[in-house]
Amino acid sequence: MGKACRARRSRTAYAGSPGHLKIFMIEAEAIHLVRQHFESLFPKTCANCGHQYATLRDYILNTKRLGGALSYDAEDGDWSTPEPVGSQALANCACGSTLALTTDGMALPSRLALLEWLKAETHRRGVSSSALLETMRDVIRQQVVADADA
Ligand SMILES: [Zn+2]
Repeated sequence: MGKACRARRSRTAYAGSPGHLKIFMIEAEAIHLVRQHFESLFPKTCANCGHQYATLRDYILNTKRLGGALSYDAEDGDWSTPEPVGSQALANCACGSTLALTTDGMALPSRLALLEWLKAETHRRGVSSSALLETMRDVIRQQVVADADA
């Protein structure tokens, strides 16, 4: 007993959201949720050249990643919105057109939980929401590329 009992995460970061859903999400859950949602967006067709990306893996391997994934709500400091606008990550199609993966269409409770997670984690790590989303994106890309069956 003693030092090992010290909580790894400070709960004080959650104190400022009265009445809000207190879903405590861990990183693996957040990543799983976003990955699952993004996989559900495929097949996806480029509106410019008509190329169809069959799977998320196909998309990751055959588009050019653009940096700066962002959460509109976090960028606006709108942490307690009941209706999050969501997040997006951009990439370029081989034709040069810009494609986006977004959290549009994700269930509202999931989007709220993700925003809550983003708020807590950016605070805990002392990084911007965009930096945290890019880190999350790195992990999802690694997972999906490593998963040959995807
Ligand atoms: Zn294209």
